[in-house]
Amino acid sequence: MPQSPHNWRSASAKPELVDSFGRTVRDLRISVTDRCNFRCTYCMPEEGMQWLPRTEVLTYEEIVRVARICVERFGVDGIRLTGGEPTVRAHLPVLIEKLASLEVPANADSPLAGKPVDLALTTNGATLALVAHDLKRAGLSRINVSLDTLDREKFIQITKRDELDSVLEGISVARDVGFSPVKVNAVVQRGVNDDEVVALAAFGREHEVEVRFIEFMPLDAQGGWLNNAVVGQDEIVSTIHNVFPLEQLPSRGAAPADRWRYLDGRGTVGVIPTVTKPFCGDCDRVRLTADGQFRTCLFATDEFDVRALLRGGAGDDAIEALLRRAVGEKWAGHSIGQVSFVRPRRSMSQIGG
Ligand code: SAM
Ligand code: SF4
Repeated sequence: MPQSPHNWRSASAKPELVDSFGRTVRDLRISVTDRCNFRCTYCMPEEGMQWLPRTEVLTYEEIVRVARICVERFGVDGIRLTGGEPTVRAHLPVLIEKLASLEVPANADSPLAGKPVDLALTTNGATLALVAHDLKRAGLSRINVSLDTLDREKFIQITKRDELDSVLEGISVARDVGFSPVKVNAVVQRGVNDDEVVALAAFGREHEVEVRFIEFMPLDAQGGWLNNAVVGQDEIVSTIHNVFPLEQLPSRGAAPADRWRYLDGRGTVGVIPTVTKPFCGDCDRVRLTADGQFRTCLFATDEFDVRALLRGGAGDDAIEALLRRAVGEKWAGHSIGQVSFVRPRRSMSQIGG
């Protein structure tokens, strides 16, 4: 039987996708919905957010098809589900089960070659206590929960929802059902929660979760981001170090967080310094929005319409070609803080953080 060009290539060559700056794509972030049950001020307005019509949102079959192409043909070994709030999408465990069955090709240049992909989820944690068990059973490997404050009033002020207790319970249940590690994401904003950096670090130490402080990025839907609202990595680290001495861990590789360990052995802490120390040179990520647009950067101003191909009857080769073209055009990096910076048309929850 004659071999298709794809069969021939996969039999002889390593599955990989390298951009024009030599960065290899390894990580696919998939937004499963643009909707959310919170209204974090740094992300979306309290009212008036325009949701995608449901017909425009990719089905689970469509998502899995794109993910399968990325894993099988490019050797992608990590997939993270995000949104919007991924847990508000119905039957999320069904998607997780399908994605968890994807296997990194045996000839991929990955420590996971021949093994299942590393499947992770980022969630606000509001319903995590209810769903953690099902997510684990479906095959989810890792979980990140967003938590910016331990103060109930401030939590309401930031998220516009009175759900601090549910989030704390969600973190605890996630650990109980065996997610390891559970990480906590905290966006730090000057004058909002910068006074809680030490308290959040202490929370991580006490509950054995790695807290990852995130610099505030210009991706809020209201366009209210200001450079002076950003609390930078150096300040975050020295604030923690003054109370809980730290030592930096070796290079992060392609991961977005720089990490430190507590000198007393009580765990680690991370900072994602997107604004003050961009890590674009090591970026291995690509993104698929809930409406099937492929993006090569959180801050990209271009999108590539995979949904049109999926729904237009295209074969896998055509989809692969579009993704390769997109990655071939990936830029060197964002220019936040410079006059050349242009905000993407869509905000964080519409892209998938
Ligand atoms: N709803 C989920 C959650 O909040 O974890 C997943 C989606 S959310 C967009 C993903 C991450 O982006 C969260 O940790 C959130 O705190 C972060 N985020 C949202 N807007 C941000 C901004 N303007 N700057 C920095 N991080 C932001
Ligand atoms: Fe929702 Fe997450 Fe955005 Fe908060 S950060 S509004 S939880 S999508």
